[in-house]
Amino acid sequence: MKEVKTKTTRIGSLKFPNESKITGRSSTLRAAFIKAIIPTIGPNHPDFNMSDYDEGLRLLKHTNGGVKCSYCGERDASDLDHFRAIVKSKFASRYITDVYNLVPACGLCNQSKGGKDWRLWIEGKAAKNPKNRGIENLDEIIKNLDAFENWSNSKVNTLTQEFLDSKEFSEYMQSCENLIASFYEFQRNAEILKAKALTNLSNANEKDFRS
Ligand SMILES: [Zn+2]
Repeated sequence: MKEVKTKTTRIGSLKFPNESKITGRSSTLRAAFIKAIIPTIGPNHPDFNMSDYDEGLRLLKHTNGGVKCSYCGERDASDLDHFRAIVKSKFASRYITDVYNLVPACGLCNQSKGGKDWRLWIEGKAAKNPKNRGIENLDEIIKNLDAFENWSNSKVNTLTQEFLDSKEFSEYMQSCENLIASFYEFQRNAEILKAKALTNLSNANEKDFRS
């Protein structure tokens, strides 16, 4: 089913609150299902490799103490971003959470990049990507990200095709799609109730107002 994006309304420069739809949560739910099965090889896992983590940072040129964002080099990094997205075209991309797929990023870049391919995003149309924010040494940044990508390509852990094709995984993802399909029914009910609510508005001065 097609997910329609709500158009942003503005009053002058200010963003007016969007009309919210239950069906607008479909992508979030799908991502939640996928993220819930993605393995994490973090600092507490026996296969976590700290020296490879450091090697990744070295290739990204994070050498001067404080770690700056790998994408813009401007802001301090606050998160480790999935370099290769976990969710792609409503499905598991096959990448997981491990040091070969994580780069330090600022919140602004992390949010703007979302699930996009880093190379398409960094010089693409997104308003808050490094190019459109006027980041100066972008060529240098792209070179570092390239080096990280080339190095990590041979080391990065992925889900196997066998797992992705398995009956259990297909059934699991189907249960998510079934849930999303029911969102459309809930949304139809919501719209009926919303129309009713609109014709039944009161204000604080009326005596039936309940606080
Ligand atoms: Zn950044």
